[in-house]
Amino acid sequence: MTHVLVTGGAGYIGSHACKALKAAGYVPVTYDNLITGWQDAVKFGPFVQGDLTDRATLDAAFAEYKPIAVMHFAALSQVGEAMKEPGKYWHNNVTGSLSLIEAAVAAGCLDFVFSSTCATYGEHDNVVLDEETNQEPLNAYGASKKAIEDILKDFEAAYGLRHVIFRYFNVAGADPEAEVGEFHRPETHLIPLMLDAIEGKRDALTVFGTDYETPDGTCIRDYVHVCDLVDAHVLGLKWLEEGKGSRVFNLGTGSGFSVREVIDHSRAVTNRDVPYVEGPRRPGDCTKLVSGSVRAVEELGWTPTRSTLHTMIEDAWRWHQAGHYDK
Ligand code: UDP
Repeated sequence: MTHVLVTGGAGYIGSHACKALKAAGYVPVTYDNLITGWQDAVKFGPFVQGDLTDRATLDAAFAEYKPIAVMHFAALSQVGEAMKEPGKYWHNNVTGSLSLIEAAVAAGCLDFVFSSTCATYGEHDNVVLDEETNQEPLNAYGASKKAIEDILKDFEAAYGLRHVIFRYFNVAGADPEAEVGEFHRPETHLIPLMLDAIEGKRDALTVFGTDYETPDGTCIRDYVHVCDLVDAHVLGLKWLEEGKGSRVFNLGTGSGFSVREVIDHSRAVTNRDVPYVEGPRRPGDCTKLVSGSVRAVEELGWTPTRSTLHTMIEDAWRWHQAGHYDK
């Protein structure tokens, strides 16, 4: 059996990755401290509860399962929180990742797939964001992810740690079979907050800023379906297995949608009113983040099939109505 250690496998993206890995013939071993993850989301392979800073538990997991590779999703990922509590992001994301990377090297597990972010690029007016764009993060979330990318490069030079880095744009949608889906507590992301507001589960959505220099004044993001995103991870794993070496890939569709456009699509998909109010900008937000790269398509053979805004909201809505986790 070919095991892959999946940190954050009980979280939103990690749980979808576990499902995709299982479908591709691997055994995903979830390593998660359950602080933001959900045990109910661990459905596709063994589970080890542990923190990334806990070397003894990490070492034991590597010894027991002998994974051929690591997929590292576990992280704090809220821009707003990162602005208010940067130390938490540096400690959790960077210290935790360093501990994991050291444990992987010590165990001789030298293929590493890392979940990074377009937030490492920061604000670039009228510049196409591809993998060569300068990384100038605006917040501690992006900065912590960039630091981990740097650690991976150093560990490749010193110990031969091969890595595929995926810089995600905005991940959305859910497993169409609704076995797993997006469920954060607290929730901060646009689409799940909006679906909650539509259902009356929370107050109206606040649109963060209507005075950006965009056609309708709201921020523009490039949304990619979580199932397409994790398919790219499986391709990234195979890329490493084939010995193709370290590489960075953006994962976005190249199409940008404003917050107002997302609201309009949600109204159309759900056939319900979207209660929202207009509010001030959220500190740390960039005006526009859209991928300008086709590297994943051309080199990995990635073919996104569900990343239209309509399908992402439809799948999120189905999960939203069907799914939930209990601690
Ligand atoms: N957003 C919003 N109201 C909310 C949450 C998000 O207007 O309650 C906006 C946010 O300013 C950004 C976009 O929606 O422009 C996507 O935000 P999200 O937090 O989902 O992802 P991020 O871009 O921060 O990774």
